[in-house]
Amino acid sequence: MLNRRDLLTGAGPLAAAGWLGLSALVAEAQDGPKPVGEPAPYVLPPLPYPYEALEPTIDAATMKLHHDLHHASYVKGLNAALEKLAEARKGGDYAAVKALSREVAFHGSGHLLHCCFWTNMTPAKTEAKGALKAMLERDFGSLDAFKAQFGNAAKQVEGSGWGILAFEPLSRRLLVLEAEKHQNLSVWGVHPLLVLDVWEHAYYLKYNNRRPEYVDAFWSVVNWDDVAARLDAATA
Ligand code: MN
Repeated sequence: MLNRRDLLTGAGPLAAAGWLGLSALVAEAQDGPKPVGEPAPYVLPPLPYPYEALEPTIDAATMKLHHDLHHASYVKGLNAALEKLAEARKGGDYAAVKALSREVAFHGSGHLLHCCFWTNMTPAKTEAKGALKAMLERDFGSLDAFKAQFGNAAKQVEGSGWGILAFEPLSRRLLVLEAEKHQNLSVWGVHPLLVLDVWEHAYYLKYNNRRPEYVDAFWSVVNWDDVAARLDAATA
């Protein structure tokens, strides 16, 4: 069973549980087990390190705004949309189902990607090794070639979005994707392993309009151990 320290530090068991299980685990740890059939509301997980931990790559003010306000708004929006859908089912009134389904996709994808993003970073120095390194080399040619493709995808996303390294379970290979907003341009069923938020709220205070500089600096705070744990969970 997870203890609170595991949750706060993002230690092995949490990472190994995979990104899809993250919010459920956090909810259970905070509120106790839920009855079967009653899904827990989504909750904002705590950052696994202090706001200033990733300085100078990412400044404390950006981390605080990003986590406490932006990420929190996706959690709130996701829960609100699901509550409205429950009301729609009770009343048999589906007039708003199109807009609400879109809200679930936007806020739900935003919540899940941010959960992955926070634990994908660490002030500790880590490196890609073992099965992760071997798979990156197999699917992209080399670690440097992967980083070049991922970095360029993140730099070139049109408007607000993400660079994403994902495991695609049908062919069991790694893919680099670029998401616009949070939910567009994905492939069904993939498991995000390493994600980089390139919305302006992620870098504008420190880097202004210099997104490429932010993307290049990101590599110095990547938590390769977390990426490897996510790959282990996805391939288990
Ligand atoms: Mn963000």
